[in-house]
Amino acid sequence: MDPKGWGLSTTAIHAGKAHNGTRSVTTPIFQTSVFELMENAEGAEFANAVEPPQFYTRWGNPNFSEVQQVVASLEGAERALVTSSGMSAFATVFDTFLQPGDHVVAPAAVYLGTEQLLRRWEARKGLKITWVQNTLDTGEWDEAVTDRTRLILAETPSNPTLAVTDLAAIAAIGRRKGVRTVADNTFATPIFTKPVELGIDLSVSSATKYLGGHSDLVAGVIAGSEADIAACWATTKLTGPTLDPIAAWLLHRGLKTLYLRVRRASDNAQSLAAWLLWQPQVARVDYPGTKDHPGHEVATRQMNGGYGAMMSFDLRGGLVAGQRFCEALRIITRAVSLGGVESLIQHPASMSHLRTPPEVKARLGITDGLLRFSVGIEDEADLKADLETGFLAADAAR
Ligand SMILES: *Cc1c(COP(=O)(O)O)cnc(C)c1O
Repeated sequence: MDPKGWGLSTTAIHAGKAHNGTRSVTTPIFQTSVFELMENAEGAEFANAVEPPQFYTRWGNPNFSEVQQVVASLEGAERALVTSSGMSAFATVFDTFLQPGDHVVAPAAVYLGTEQLLRRWEARKGLKITWVQNTLDTGEWDEAVTDRTRLILAETPSNPTLAVTDLAAIAAIGRRKGVRTVADNTFATPIFTKPVELGIDLSVSSATKYLGGHSDLVAGVIAGSEADIAACWATTKLTGPTLDPIAAWLLHRGLKTLYLRVRRASDNAQSLAAWLLWQPQVARVDYPGTKDHPGHEVATRQMNGGYGAMMSFDLRGGLVAGQRFCEALRIITRAVSLGGVESLIQHPASMSHLRTPPEVKARLGITDGLLRFSVGIEDEADLKADLETGFLAADAAR
């Protein structure tokens, strides 16, 4: 919670300060696995405390505390926990709040890693899962909840299909039925959406993406109530998905410019999406900021003045056009991941999904010409020129 009423940038820069008695303006890197105890009694106290500040780094570290304060303040949550990756953050939430045989409600088009983790729980621990097909249909979420449901998981906008979910509606269902709700906030970031303020219990993000923002670290965060985060911390204390202090320090540095970066990237995306819609080679653009996107209305209500910087667009030329398009680009880089300062592009049909059966691709909405585009903070004119080069190459392929 941000008690000071600061804006997003002031919060990101000043909410967490773990100077530890030094006069340095930026926080030093506490690259240590362990801290000296001032007296024996301190050892006894720390061994029983939740996240003692300076004890043993699997339990906590000043560089983690700093990031956690910033993330909790930005998310409007009581507390936050940093982990070694987005996936370990989800694994921690599942491990903390699910028992074998429980039931979970999750979107059908969820991030592939999250889907595979849930299916692993299904195969090994008898987890029951109901997959929601139309995330905009609140009734479908409501009907999916049974008396065995322990978690409702949403992801908005979703990876990679940009499906939108009404988080306030999901939170209301969870509260009414006594089910804990979780939102993957990786794409929206707390700049555009604060799930906890909309009533969601836990906001989970891959900090590898926008929060870090420079494609130079892997990390995850969980934000929520004091009690829920203490329970998650108890899990990580035992299972050990501990972030490295250097990565935590880099994450804090990235967070300081979060607002500037995601605003700029989102502005670039908004304008490029509008431009892409007019290109004759483009059959479809999936971006919640365009008026004809099915989730536009909900996104406008739920997202604070921007729609994020992820989109996908479908080339009419199909597989070969998609391939040639990617190969011709000079600025926009071919890579998985997203959310960095640099624009990244991916062509699922010739890359991640080359060996996926056609019927599965159809179910996932992966067409042969589909490109997933993580718009960076470069100059918009340069990105446009680069995309034009791609279109020329795609045309030549026909
Ligand atoms: C990348 C990603 C994750 C997983 O995070 P890692 O940091 O790669 O472990 C989870 N959810 C979404 C939406 C993501 O994009």
